[in-house]
Amino acid sequence: MVRFLWLLLAPLMLSASSVETYKWSEGETYLMFLERLHLPQALYYDIDSDDQKLTEELRSGIPYQVMHDRNGTIEQVLIPVSDELQLHLYRKDGSFAFEAIPLIASTKQESITLSIQNSPYYDILKATGSHSLAHAFVAGFKNSLNFRRDLRKGDRLVMVYTQKYRLGSPFGMPELLVGMIEMRGGQHSVYLNSDGRYYDGKGRQVEGFLLARPVRSGRVSSGFTPRRFHPILKRYRAHLGVDYAAPRGTPILAAGSGTIIFAGRTRGYGNVIKIRHSDGYVTLYAHQKAFRRGMRVGKQVKQGEVIGYVGTTGLSTGPHLHFGLYKNGRAINPARVVQVTTKQLEGKALKAFTARKAELDALVDEALAHPESVMKKAEAINNACYIDPQSCRPLEKGENNETHQ
Ligand SMILES: [Zn+2]
Repeated sequence: MVRFLWLLLAPLMLSASSVETYKWSEGETYLMFLERLHLPQALYYDIDSDDQKLTEELRSGIPYQVMHDRNGTIEQVLIPVSDELQLHLYRKDGSFAFEAIPLIASTKQESITLSIQNSPYYDILKATGSHSLAHAFVAGFKNSLNFRRDLRKGDRLVMVYTQKYRLGSPFGMPELLVGMIEMRGGQHSVYLNSDGRYYDGKGRQVEGFLLARPVRSGRVSSGFTPRRFHPILKRYRAHLGVDYAAPRGTPILAAGSGTIIFAGRTRGYGNVIKIRHSDGYVTLYAHQKAFRRGMRVGKQVKQGEVIGYVGTTGLSTGPHLHFGLYKNGRAINPARVVQVTTKQLEGKALKAFTARKAELDALVDEALAHPESVMKKAEAINNACYIDPQSCRPLEKGENNETHQ
């Protein structure tokens, strides 16, 4: 671990005399941030529109780093903007430059084995101190089991999950790979399949959060891309949503029932509505021509209800709906969730799932056999970028293969 941290921090130490970590404050916009730190507004107005849109993804609570030189002058700022990308503001030729670069992050596979004393949520929280982990486990079983009715004290649970780390601290939500809980003498498991959805042991989908398409007609003109390197521009790009091309004025439907938490105008997204749903999901509908009358903060909407009309307001090149989906503040691929019925895997898909299930069951057995130790498996750093922009590129698999102990 010591060596790992040193490798990440060494480049910072060479170029800066101090690195401080802050948390992004509630309600602060990127422009407000620049002003507060006396950074040039050109770091917004002179960057291209894709990058400008990225700055609207900043969310409260995100830890970011500011590096000062020996005189206390800002040298660099690193602000994570998603699970994959961070904004890098750095001093260059007497001024400041902007770039979006991959997040320095490593992913570890970990597991927890517990004997239930109170409730799965409470016991996981007590053992790990992590609301995120407790939430990830409970959400996996929400639609298939009734914990309150069927659990007995002493029943065991296992969760195997991956967690990202940035500068040595957990970052982002853990992803549950397999969860197992004993109930009335039987084992019940949910498995994360290669399609990104959760299934029970028989290959039946267990997730209950279903979203409808936000426009009836209209083709997907641009998909979800958490991070992509543009080989000609030599820059990193992200598209944290799905674009539906549709004629101006096409009705936009609420993808799920919920409460409007934002209805207004931003520079990047134009007229934009955000709806909060259950279980930490938020949907976003950008570039609208106009909202339907009565759409305002606090209003409850039903799935399928018209909320506004397709337009091209904000940073947009033609009429389309930019549809974003967030879980616990993190942008996720709407294609994973948008569907109208739950699925039963069949044929080839079921066969592939069964093989995957066997591997995941083996991890559960391993965790049950060694309940005293929280297993930590190291993985190679899957993307890393030191702060010299010239050398900034993602590492290949197997390259710079540190271990964490
Ligand atoms: Zn878009």
